[in-house]
Amino acid sequence: MSKLPNISTSIFTVMSKMAAEYNAINLSQGFPNFPVDERLTDIIAKLAKENVHQYTPMSGYAPLLSKIATLVNNSYRRTVHPETELLVTAGATQAIFTTITALVKNNDDVIILDPSYDCYEAPVLLCNANPVRVALNDDYTPNWEIIEKACSAKTKMIIINNPHNPTGKILTESDFEALEILLEKYPDIVLLSDEVYEYITFEEKHISAHTREKLLNRSVMVSSFGKSFHVTGWKVGYLVAPEYLIEEIKKVHQFLVFSVNSISQIAISEYLDIVSIAEIGKLYQEKRDYFRQLLKNSRFELMPCEGTYFQVASYAAISNENDVDFCKRLIIEHGVAAIPISTFYADGKDLKLIRFCFAKDNATLEEAAKRLCVI
Ligand code: PMP
Ligand code: GLN
Repeated sequence: MSKLPNISTSIFTVMSKMAAEYNAINLSQGFPNFPVDERLTDIIAKLAKENVHQYTPMSGYAPLLSKIATLVNNSYRRTVHPETELLVTAGATQAIFTTITALVKNNDDVIILDPSYDCYEAPVLLCNANPVRVALNDDYTPNWEIIEKACSAKTKMIIINNPHNPTGKILTESDFEALEILLEKYPDIVLLSDEVYEYITFEEKHISAHTREKLLNRSVMVSSFGKSFHVTGWKVGYLVAPEYLIEEIKKVHQFLVFSVNSISQIAISEYLDIVSIAEIGKLYQEKRDYFRQLLKNSRFELMPCEGTYFQVASYAAISNENDVDFCKRLIIEHGVAAIPISTFYADGKDLKLIRFCFAKDNATLEEAAKRLCVI
């Protein structure tokens, strides 16, 4: 009877709820706990009294669209047309849902790379299409040979997430070259590139699908102001796509939300004039380094983190429990919430790995680390 019999409540909801119940420090669901830039909250406060409370145009508030075009151009030297190649969405989640439901048909295959973020599979299933989950290598690099073996005439879409949640891995130049060679063989495949952490990268530079000549005409790139500006609750994101794809995407968008909430769009539009994008990566690089330093003497083994605000850690030296049980006990007995990595795999592969979110103020990170170091 259910249309999604195997989909349950998201692990982020489950863990955040449990963290609240046990009054634990919540390093599970990915959201910042530090104050939003006052310049942004001042803009919202000022706007609240102005005439900004009615529908914006369906594809977005026009000045925001043109500032996103400028942002994309400044970041990637790519010219996008604000009216025909951009769509403001209610967060990246809606961008992804809308893209998949607009482009994927009955019985198409959609390739999803595991471990994978949770919002890709459900829309594929709702289209009566087939999620084809392909595992990344053990070091979380894509195995292009295996991905190619999974492709066929039925494949409509490949979804990549770069920088990658939960592993913090970013794709390299050679990954993109391999992807381009693969896609040349399959002209009908669309690339959905989830780049919500595009500005949260550290030593290595983020390579966007935007920068790839060979991909532009067949890619939908998705981003999230929630992630970039520390306002996850505002649910404002956008997608960039060639006109022939965005035309289809808009047909769904107009009946899913019609338009995104006006005041946040206008505030972000004004904020884009004054914010320094380069500061975002610096802020989170400091947080990553601080959190890793705090956990240096713990029994957790920290995996590399090239981007995002997530740190993956192995607890193999601490316990043999499966990662879901370990995370539950971590909350109940030690007062810290994390996310079990097995939930990002179709087969629930348990590697004794958990994910911590370090988008927190220093006092929170210090208290969490104090608790984690005595386990
Ligand atoms: N993709 C990834 C990889 C994410 O981590 C998230 C969570 N922010 C989203 C998409 C959804 O973003 P939003 O909150 O803007 O819907
Ligand atoms: N993207 C967030 C994370 O990975 C979760 C957002 C959500 O709960 N939907 O933690």
